[in-house]
Amino acid sequence: MAGIRGARGWWRARRLAAAIPAAVRAVRPALGTGSDPLLARGELISARRCWYCSIDDVGLDTWVVAGDRLACGDCASALLGRGLPYVRVMALHRGRAGSPRRSLGEIYHALVAFKERHDGWEGLAAPLAHMLATSIRQVMTTAALPAAESRRGGPWVVAPVPSFQALRPHVRILTALAAAELPYEAAPTLDLLVKRVDFVQKGMSRADRWRASADAYVLRRRWGRSRSEVRGARVIVTDDFFTTGATLAECAWVVRSAGAAAVYGAAVVRVILAPGERLLPLRGRQARVQLREVDARGRAPIAAGDGVLWLRFACVLPCAAVHTAGPIPVPGLDRLAVHRWLCQCGVAHVIRLRREWLGGTKECVAVMLGTRRPAEILVGVAQEGTTFA
Ligand SMILES: [Zn+2]
Ligand SMILES: [Zn+2]
Repeated sequence: MAGIRGARGWWRARRLAAAIPAAVRAVRPALGTGSDPLLARGELISARRCWYCSIDDVGLDTWVVAGDRLACGDCASALLGRGLPYVRVMALHRGRAGSPRRSLGEIYHALVAFKERHDGWEGLAAPLAHMLATSIRQVMTTAALPAAESRRGGPWVVAPVPSFQALRPHVRILTALAAAELPYEAAPTLDLLVKRVDFVQKGMSRADRWRASADAYVLRRRWGRSRSEVRGARVIVTDDFFTTGATLAECAWVVRSAGAAAVYGAAVVRVILAPGERLLPLRGRQARVQLREVDARGRAPIAAGDGVLWLRFACVLPCAAVHTAGPIPVPGLDRLAVHRWLCQCGVAHVIRLRREWLGGTKECVAVMLGTRRPAEILVGVAQEGTTFA
């Protein structure tokens, strides 16, 4: 038995090593150390996230609590319609697409640099693979299968999202490298899936992503036969970014129709989109309010003429409420204003605001919301001249 395992292990190691480019292997000192002080500055996903898709964006509406799980509106409606093909997705970090926040963008930009092979990309492989491995391990330790499926408790199969014709196989490289940190029973099957249609998702709308992903992925046939290792298995599909979930959903349908017991996802970054505009009440009228993210120090820029603002923040778990408070008067320069809101669940939220001068004509408002991290706050500023009846 040990001999069979040994031979299999040898082949597995050979296949994984072959998936790692020589340029990445050459920066061996970094491999396996698994940490990089630069990347450690990226923002982690907050504890208050959708149980299913890892999103933690307070810009979203319709959060719901189902049992002891918090779900975003998209996942909740997909669950109701039995249209969620995966059980759970874990991502270690989050990044807002196009975010001006350096701390948010760090991991995001590192992944793009690795993917597009900018200078020094080889050195990013080890820390990014470590993050992917952490997400995979989190899936394995928290995976809760429905009772009927967990009795079977099938083997784990880790499969990267494939690139078209295996060109630029960065997810495959990261998955192969991550294997060094995974338990033996979760060794990657790097060639499980094939992408048979070429398209680039970047810049596509949500609907376009879903349309483009449909039927784009298939199982790779081996020795002319379909894959038997998927039947009854718990498959973890790995990817770099998880944005709308279109890619993962399509891969999940493919492996589920091949008989997988359950499909999970593991990614490095959960991408959330730039905060949008909302119509909010202002003095008996409606104002077009632009929601902005606060910076790493909890500050949002304001113009000298901005007299009021809105705050959007989430209540504590397990409450699903997301509050939009306002209009709130902007305090005088260097004055501290304290506001309190009572949530329907009984939690009192205390928010402190301070207006600060940044030099020149630049001002900002600093927001301190209890013990919460500033990442979970959006500040709304009314657009001048867009107030209407
Ligand atoms: Zn969700
Ligand atoms: Zn609450």
